[in-house]
Amino acid sequence: MTTRDVDAPLLEVKALRAELADGRTVLHDVSYAVRPGQALGLVGESGSGKSMSLKAVLATLPDGTRTTGDITFDTRSVSAMSRRELRAYRAHDVALIPQDPRASANPVRTVGDFLTEALVRARGTRRRDADTVAARLLVDVGIPDGERRLAQYPHELSGGLLQRVMIAAALAMEPRLLLADEPTTALDVTTQQEVMAILDEQRRDKHLAMVLVTHDLDLAVAVTDTVAVMYAGTIVEIAPSTELHTASRHPYTMGLLRSRPVIGRRDRLTSLPGRPISAFEAGEGCGFAARCSYAQDRCRTTRPVLQAGGTHQVACHRADELAITLPEATP
Ligand code: SF4
Repeated sequence: MTTRDVDAPLLEVKALRAELADGRTVLHDVSYAVRPGQALGLVGESGSGKSMSLKAVLATLPDGTRTTGDITFDTRSVSAMSRRELRAYRAHDVALIPQDPRASANPVRTVGDFLTEALVRARGTRRRDADTVAARLLVDVGIPDGERRLAQYPHELSGGLLQRVMIAAALAMEPRLLLADEPTTALDVTTQQEVMAILDEQRRDKHLAMVLVTHDLDLAVAVTDTVAVMYAGTIVEIAPSTELHTASRHPYTMGLLRSRPVIGRRDRLTSLPGRPISAFEAGEGCGFAARCSYAQDRCRTTRPVLQAGGTHQVACHRADELAITLPEATP
C-alpha cells in the first residue's frame, strides 16, 4: 500500500477552460487546489463562473462543452474516468449540497426513504439497519427527533430543516470532498447561520475537504481557509481567508469589500459601478476594466494573469501599487 502525501491536494483544478457547445466561453484559465480537511471558497457575482466550476469538478457541464486543462481528484484525472469510475466518484468521493433543498427533494418520498435508499445503494448498509443510521445522521446535523422526522415529507419541514437533511444525505456517502453550492441562499438570515455552523462543524469533525460556492464574501472568509474571488469566468484573486479583508489587492475584491455594510465602518459605503459580465463578454484585456477606476490602456489590451507562486495571488497589472488596508472591515 502506498502512503499518501498528506500535503498533496485532494482536488486540483489546473488551467481549466470551458466553452459551451454554442461557442460561449464560461471558464477561463481557472486553477485552484484543495487539500484534505481544507475549505476553499469560490466567491463571485452571477455569471462569474463559480457554479460552472463546480459542475466541471462533478463532470456535469452541459453536453457539448469543450474543456482544456485538467481536474484531478486524488491524482486521478476526472476527464479520463470511465462512466463506471465517474458513477463511483460521484457516489463515494464527492457529495453535492444543493442551493435549493426543495428543488432537490422528491416531494412524494419521505425523508426516511430519501436517506435510507442512499445508504443502502451507495454504502451497502443493511436495510434493517438503515433507519437507525439515518436517524443518527439527522442527530449529527442538529435534528434530535430523527425517528419522527424520517416519517415526514419534505413539505412538512422548514427550509432550514430540509437543508440539514441534504447535509445529512451528503455526509451519508462518507465523501472526501463536499461541494456546497450556495447552500444557505434560499434560507432566512438566522437559519443561514445555523445551517452553515452545522456544515462547518461536520466538515471539520470529519476532516473533509470542501469547495463552497457563494456570493457572500464575509461568509466565505468566516468558514473557509482560502478564498478565490471569481470575475468573468476566471479567478482574479486567491488568498488565505485571514488576509482578504485587510490585504486585498484586486480592485474587484476591494470593491466587494467596500460595498458591503459593516457595523462601525468609517469609510463610505460604495457600490461597484456597472454590471458584472460573463466570461464570453470579456475581450482581450482585463474583464474588470470597464468597471475599474484604476484601469489603464494596457488593461484593455492585455489580460492579466495570476502571478505564479505564493499563497496570495492577484490577476491585476497594478496589484502591487494598489494594496490596501481596511482594518475597520475586519470581521
Ligand atoms: Fe483594474 Fe487594470 Fe487591474 Fe484590471 S488589470 S483590475 S482594469 S487595474
